[in-house]
Amino acid sequence: MTAQMTDVAIIGSGPAGYTAAIYLGRAGYRPTVIAGALTPGGQLVNTTEVENYPGFPEGIMGPDLMDAMRKQAERFGANIIYDDVVSVDFTGNAKTLTLDGADTITARAVVVATGSRVRKLGVPGEEQFAGRGVSYCATCDGFFFRGKPIVVVGGGDSALTDADFLSRFGSSVTVVHRRDTFRASKILVDRAQANERIALRMNAVVERIEGDDTGVQSVILRDTVDGSESALAANGVFVAIGHTPATEFLDGALQLDEHGFIMVDGASTHTNVPGVFAAGDVVDSVYRQAISAAGMGCRAALDAQTYLTDLG
Ligand code: NAP
Repeated sequence: MTAQMTDVAIIGSGPAGYTAAIYLGRAGYRPTVIAGALTPGGQLVNTTEVENYPGFPEGIMGPDLMDAMRKQAERFGANIIYDDVVSVDFTGNAKTLTLDGADTITARAVVVATGSRVRKLGVPGEEQFAGRGVSYCATCDGFFFRGKPIVVVGGGDSALTDADFLSRFGSSVTVVHRRDTFRASKILVDRAQANERIALRMNAVVERIEGDDTGVQSVILRDTVDGSESALAANGVFVAIGHTPATEFLDGALQLDEHGFIMVDGASTHTNVPGVFAAGDVVDSVYRQAISAAGMGCRAALDAQTYLTDLG
């Protein structure tokens, strides 16, 4: 068991965490990044081609982008630890993080950038066809389904925003929702109803996703009212049933909203605890893009820098 001290610790190694590390490193702070034991690099490590991150006109593979961000952070002195934070103590001026192996890190400032995980359907075919028709990011993958039938699963703002976006590409877009009313805001429901390329299939759940060597071919739906099953042709299945922010380890140390996302003060990255900042998908349930997370990581670094300068 070791106890390390650092000026600033960054929890998380997605675009927000590494961007914060690059900025704080260049400011001379030698930040400690606790990158996670199993999935350093965050959600982009499970993505294939990233075509919308500025600066890469030919696109870049998600893992390559995260590798480059890590190297850039290390170049400016970031110390990267591949472990998980299991608990925190933010009560004093010195913030203590306890890692899985019981090592501790004490920091004067902390940036929480632990991201979120997509909720999965948990049905047969979902894992098998992930990246071959099953997607969790319409903005990232919609382009690949030009002229193809698309299914969007979910009934919230994300599902209907995704359906609207995907209707530019798909030959048809069918939103499959498990109830007879949408959770999404009225304006999005009205827009979907008025869009002739969007069909709304209510009271239905996806039982399984079927396909072949070329990818997804159909989804099997079960009607939640009469129990009947039917097949719906689909080459793209976009799952938009929400995200779970990775905030369990905080155990009440920071103020969260009703969905578990960390609350920050206005457009800043200040949490309710002085010296603790938050950035990326662990805060943002709306935009959730690599570039918006990176931008917020930059802001967290600048907020943390001001805080550390004021501390003296
Ligand atoms: P959400 O509001 O939690 O909605 C999730 C939807 O998925 C719900 O309709 C839910 O059904 C359904 N669902 C959950 N688990 C399911 C399962 N296992 N099988 C089938 N369906 C399932 O999540 P979200 O749509 O991602 O939105 C998250 C937050 O971001 C919200 O605050 C939202 O307002 C915001 N947002 C805003 C915009 C915008 O303003 N343009 C765009 C995107 C997101 P039930 O309704 O039956 O629970």
